[in-house]
Amino acid sequence: MDEARRAMVEEQLRSRGIRNHRVLDAMGRVPREDFLPSTLARAAYDDRAVPIDEGQTLSQPYMVAAMTEALEPGPTDRVLEIGTGSGYQAAVLSLLVSEVFSLERIASLAEGARKRLNDLGYSNVRVRTGDGSLGWPEEAPFDGIIVTAAAPEPPRSLLSQLSEVGGRLVVPVGTRTEQDLLRVRREGDELETDTLLGCRFVPLLGEEGW
Ligand code: SAH
Repeated sequence: MDEARRAMVEEQLRSRGIRNHRVLDAMGRVPREDFLPSTLARAAYDDRAVPIDEGQTLSQPYMVAAMTEALEPGPTDRVLEIGTGSGYQAAVLSLLVSEVFSLERIASLAEGARKRLNDLGYSNVRVRTGDGSLGWPEEAPFDGIIVTAAAPEPPRSLLSQLSEVGGRLVVPVGTRTEQDLLRVRREGDELETDTLLGCRFVPLLGEEGW
């Protein structure tokens, strides 16, 4: 699996333009196979999204890398993830920032991810069950917020929980079937939005989602 992981980093990430060395390094360290149902572990380093429990999906490695790079994770950052799923994205983030908060609406997924992250020693991640479209106000503000499900528009609650000095929100926005990955940067009251790439995510369900 180590060899498959190295090949994934070179062939799917570096050669397609992922430049951030810390992101490449983190993705070269997290055992993606440990976040998948055992019957799908063989597909861990395939160039595609993989189904997890409850009809959800773990994104293609390239998409995880592109979103993580877009978040511009810094070593002292506190980051919020919406859509814990398997916990894989949270594990990648945990190697890059100081604290990760992750929200998942399906309790069984949150529990599974919490156990997996704990067993693998990712100790700076907190997982909670709840509607992530409303964020985690008790822990705000965040230097970065990453949404791994598709929203009709950037949720207002999440924008309000960004740090006023350069907080970044990375979120797929569009219809239920097709989206653009957006990065919204907050500077005081100003929001600056970049459109990064086309993508397809499962819908963000909830008060400020679908
Ligand atoms: N980041 C995950 C993959 C996420 S799939 C990983 O690394 O494995 C998208 C996840 O978002 C699903 O688990 C889904 O249940 C969750 N989700 C959808 N709407 C949500 C909401 N409002 N709050 C929290 N989680 C939500």
